[in-house]
Amino acid sequence: MPLYSHSRLGTYENCPFQYKLRYVDRVKPILGNTIESFMGSMVHDALEWLYKLAQDSNIVSKEALTNKYDELWSEKWKDDIRVVKKELTADNFKETGKTCLEMYYDRYHPFDQALTIGLEERMIIELPEDKKMQGYIDRLDKIADGHVSVHDYKTSSRVPPQAKADQDRQLGLYALAVHQKYPEIKKIDLVWHYVRFDEEVRSSRTEKQLDIMVENTVNLIKDVETATELKKFPTKTSILCNWCEFKAQCPEYSHQYASQSNAPVLDTTTMTASQAAETVDKLVELKEKKKTLSSDMDAMIETLESKLITYSKESGHNSVFGKDYKASFKESETLKAPGQKDLRRYALEATLEEMGLIESFQQKSISWSRLKSKLKSDDLTSEQKEKILENMDVDKSTRFTLKKL
Ligand code: SF4
Repeated sequence: MPLYSHSRLGTYENCPFQYKLRYVDRVKPILGNTIESFMGSMVHDALEWLYKLAQDSNIVSKEALTNKYDELWSEKWKDDIRVVKKELTADNFKETGKTCLEMYYDRYHPFDQALTIGLEERMIIELPEDKKMQGYIDRLDKIADGHVSVHDYKTSSRVPPQAKADQDRQLGLYALAVHQKYPEIKKIDLVWHYVRFDEEVRSSRTEKQLDIMVENTVNLIKDVETATELKKFPTKTSILCNWCEFKAQCPEYSHQYASQSNAPVLDTTTMTASQAAETVDKLVELKEKKKTLSSDMDAMIETLESKLITYSKESGHNSVFGKDYKASFKESETLKAPGQKDLRRYALEATLEEMGLIESFQQKSISWSRLKSKLKSDDLTSEQKEKILENMDVDKSTRFTLKKL
């Protein structure tokens, strides 16, 4: 029975295909880690180092903390780490991480708010129906007897609203894990440190909230198990694809990476990958040309039609005969009520009301087509018709038809 984790389930929710590559096929990603994830890890590692020393009463200086961060950064840096956002560089991220640590240091120094009892603490969560999960708590603090706080560091560029924090599965699971491991603990505070913003978000869970979370998590695990059984892992494209380390191995994007030597072979018996790319460019070019040609043709057709209409009006011929087709012209007039904001609209409604016509029309929220048929009938006197028509518009148009001889 696999051991699930919050991030494993999150991967399935974000993209089942990514889940398959990472957890079912255990494929090694071609692309490197993203800078956001690397910077997050370095900040976590530096804070873990800080608290480990603080546990032994060694409160390091702020400079020592940022030096440690620099050291970790150089030690663990890999050249294939990707900076997705074009306008930023790896150094920008390194600096951001450093600023996060400095702000954190200033806020919590000398780190004696509580007693740290666990760092990167592995927790096993027992769920109904024999499901099991694991997670690592960044920091577990003892506030008082029977009262602890679970801390999680976030380097993300957004702070979630309280309502979202109150529903968060990751820390909810950690709360459950603490309950299961230390049944004597009665109060658990959940604390997120959004270190980019020097911001704390706090929450807690009632027994009922934990029950709902457990039910939802078990259902999600069952979905994952069904997908695994059926081998059904569709791709789910989103903005997150840009940060996906399997992008080059995913059918949605693999062709884009065809030129990379270590990408899967993409040539077929029909054409090579580069021929396929050229075909896309050619297709776009043709479609663009077609669009331009078609609007040029529309303009030419309009000019010819208008020339023929003018000819018909001037000559009095209602139809003009070509070799195989005849073009016919028919003038028509359409009655139109003025728009809602037009002052004549009020005048028209006042006239209809005065004539006692508005009520019968109002029942059907004024049916203009019924009014038009009334205008054609003998139900209204010619004075009434004239008065109504005064406040209505007449649209004149010429209908043009081509008919085979
Ligand atoms: S690139 Fe997008 S669709 Fe493909 S596996 Fe990654 S997240 Fe899924």
